[in-house]
Amino acid sequence: MDQSSAFKTEAALAEHLPPLSAQQAFVESNRCLFCYDAPCTRACPTHIDVPAFIKKISTGNLHGSARTIFESNLLGATCSRVCPVQELCEGACVLGADHKPIAIGRLQRFAMDYAYAKGPNYFAAGAPTGMSVAVVGAGPAGISCAGTLARLGYQVCVFDKRSLGGGLSTYGIISLREPIEIALAEIEMVKNLGVVFKTGVEAGHDVSFDELKAKFQAVFISAGLGSTPTLGIPCEELIEDGLTFVEQSKLDAAGMKIGKNVIVIGAGNTAIDCATIAKRLGAESVTILYRRTRNEMTAYPHEYEFALAEGIQFRFLTQPVSVLAKALECVSMRLEPGSSAKRPLASPIPGSNFTLPADQIIKAIGQQKPALAALLKLKTTSGFIDVDADYETSAAGFFAGGDCIRSQGSCSTVMAVQDGKMAAKAIHGKLSGRAV
Ligand SMILES: Cc1cc2nc3c(=O)[nH]c(=O)nc-3n(C[C@H](O)[C@H](O)[C@H](O)COP(=O)(O)OP(=O)(O)OC[C@H]3O[C@@H](n4cnc5c(N)ncnc54)[C@H](O)[C@@H]3O)c2cc1C
Ligand code: SF4
Repeated sequence: MDQSSAFKTEAALAEHLPPLSAQQAFVESNRCLFCYDAPCTRACPTHIDVPAFIKKISTGNLHGSARTIFESNLLGATCSRVCPVQELCEGACVLGADHKPIAIGRLQRFAMDYAYAKGPNYFAAGAPTGMSVAVVGAGPAGISCAGTLARLGYQVCVFDKRSLGGGLSTYGIISLREPIEIALAEIEMVKNLGVVFKTGVEAGHDVSFDELKAKFQAVFISAGLGSTPTLGIPCEELIEDGLTFVEQSKLDAAGMKIGKNVIVIGAGNTAIDCATIAKRLGAESVTILYRRTRNEMTAYPHEYEFALAEGIQFRFLTQPVSVLAKALECVSMRLEPGSSAKRPLASPIPGSNFTLPADQIIKAIGQQKPALAALLKLKTTSGFIDVDADYETSAAGFFAGGDCIRSQGSCSTVMAVQDGKMAAKAIHGKLSGRAV
């Protein structure tokens, strides 16, 4: 690929929202009403004191603003970019009803960009407790737990099977929302608190859980979910995996081969991410197939609108049947009346088969349940690890958080960050006999 094509690829996937200028941040922060018992703070799963950090921006105290964010959320830089703010803080902003809600996410990013440009040395490791904790998985839940424990004086070792830490922030969230460097910078911040990262080490394979249990006073499992499940249709091996497709776009977008007619199977945010990448990297037509209707899609409404604006098409009530040469055979579906209103049963309409042209097919139909649950014989609900109010699993000394415990509601980075933070406090409570 020549230099100008590589530049075009990079530009196509560059961060979607530009940073606010100092002037824009000043004006926006001064629109805030600094509400008492602010609904935006209540709507944030990590309960960042939103009016306080915005007030500090308005008075030019960016250091203090960043500190307020970090106090509640060590991954404030990632969350300012990837949080579905429309559903959370901005959705709850009192100015949303009659005016425009405050651009909380972009203001948070403004403060975080300042902090990282200066070097985010906001906290020191706590006075040593002499105890150590193992964290399995260096995604948002693991990093949040590790950083919080280090501040409480624990020696923490984070194991991750991949070569880079960051979990899905590094490998899964498209660069339009979060470039890899942001996730890696957060890892460096936690390393500065003394946390040790052992990457390329798979717990249960390269190091046993018995070894971890013997060496550490507690183990926090934040291993996320598994790979994409199978559809079970003929010639499925010709279908590309959506998670791998997104990962390639982050690690080697210039080396990707994009088809002319691309079909993405799925109805969630990952399906929209895959379709967006394909469209931005040159596909002529990109169609998302879903066997139910728009109403049952799990993608956020703002993501659906974004996809439409990108020129992505949707074919609802359509199910893939078989992969053919440069085409996908499908069947039309109908929703069964009387079945669940939230996820009604969809069944094929006999004789309604048809083909769609496709020279690239990608499946983005969710992730498999956490494999470690079976390995450790942990209690589960629908395949997700069960934890008690202290994030402890059915095996004493093993705690868990993040996507691997999310049996209800949608998985998100900010929920994983909150789990990691709260689990760290619960682990400290158990090990020290003192509540935080
Ligand atoms: C394509 C995609 C896009 C997304 N976009 C968004 C978004 O825009 N906004 C948002 O809020 N959320 C988004 N999410 C969801 C969000 O990324 C997750 O909720 C979040 O990353 C969960 O964090 P986690 O720490 O629980 O797990 P993960 O981020 O999955 O991290 C788990 C880590 O554990 C490691 N691991 C697994 N097993 C082992 C083992 N045995 N030993 C050692 N290490 C192990 C893995 O390598 C991985 O690094 C997206 C998810 C996907 C798939
Ligand atoms: S709800 Fe809106 S106006 Fe009120 S403090 Fe939060 S961001 Fe400011």
